[in-house]
Amino acid sequence: MSSHNGHDLIIIGGGASGLAAGIYAKRAALDVVLIEKGAVGGQMNMTDDVENYPGFPRINGAEISSRMLEHADSLSLDIIYDEVVEIEPGLDVHTVKLTDGRELPTCSIILATGGQPKMLEIPGEQENYGKGVSYCGVCDGFFFRNKTILVVGGGDTAAEEALYLAKLADKVYMAHRRDELRASKILQKRIFDDCKIEMLWNTITMEIYSENGAVSGVALQNNATGENSELAVDGVFIFIGFIPRNELAPAGVKMTAEGYIVTDEKCETNIPGIFAVGDLREKYARQIVISAADGSTAALAAAHFVEAKKATGDGVCEAPAHLLQEE
Ligand code: NAP
Repeated sequence: MSSHNGHDLIIIGGGASGLAAGIYAKRAALDVVLIEKGAVGGQMNMTDDVENYPGFPRINGAEISSRMLEHADSLSLDIIYDEVVEIEPGLDVHTVKLTDGRELPTCSIILATGGQPKMLEIPGEQENYGKGVSYCGVCDGFFFRNKTILVVGGGDTAAEEALYLAKLADKVYMAHRRDELRASKILQKRIFDDCKIEMLWNTITMEIYSENGAVSGVALQNNATGENSELAVDGVFIFIGFIPRNELAPAGVKMTAEGYIVTDEKCETNIPGIFAVGDLREKYARQIVISAADGSTAALAAAHFVEAKKATGDGVCEAPAHLLQEE
């Protein structure tokens, strides 16, 4: 009988940030395992064309994810397909609990659980995702050059994305459910000054129509007058908020009011040895390349953290006796 004192690092989530972390952690010779509850790849798998991942002028999102997985496989990254239900932080060792009852002790953790754009949840939205419905202007705007776009939302993200999209499209309608934007005054001024952007105030998007497999228009309702109308558009970009998947963050981890985990430049949270990367982390922009960069940063920092802990030689990073696993 031999015992296993726990992993150096457990990565939770197998999207771009988690896989990049896994690749860097293996190369740093850490005893690492990645845990994914569904299919690896995350949001990348839902993106048809990616044209801003350096080195790949045009690549399918699922292909980037399978190449990342191949890369991780080539380094023998161990992946457990199961769901993490809880993280119990400890002074020297943290414990990751799985649905099947297993409790995995580990010296460090990288949270890479991502998040998801908030959806309108209207007819035609899910069916036309990737066929004219998008939640990312930087990713998909290029496909709407010289076309007509509807942007939904009135916050900073919607305003910034509408300004970005107006550089590419012929016309951008911006539908907001109130008569005043939530976005900052400076962005509001830019929106109002942009002759390609037309505001649709007090406007609710009720349904998204498609023809021949592509978005063709929307049904709108004015919530001040009750008037219904239709508008022909080629694309619908929805920016009504983003939901970070922060449920696994242990109590005490610092978060913003919107639920993003606050980290330092190493992607480390305020709990030593617990890192957060990718869309879950408070940061300026959300892109595949940025998530990959987060993952690699956190893995390098975790390697340093583990090495420093082990160097003390006082038994830290060793699992408590009740968690020792038989092998
Ligand atoms: P947000 O500020 O929460 O704005 C969401 C917008 O979507 C609001 O205008 C909201 O309308 C609207 N909305 C929400 N649910 C809706 C629904 N079901 N149907 C129609 N409209 C709906 O989200 P965000 O714009 O993504 O910004 C998130 C945070 O990041 C904010 O704190 C923002 O300031 C920050 N941010 C900052 C910058 C920057 O400083 N450059 C850039 C991007 C984001 P109501 O206004 O009526 O609630």
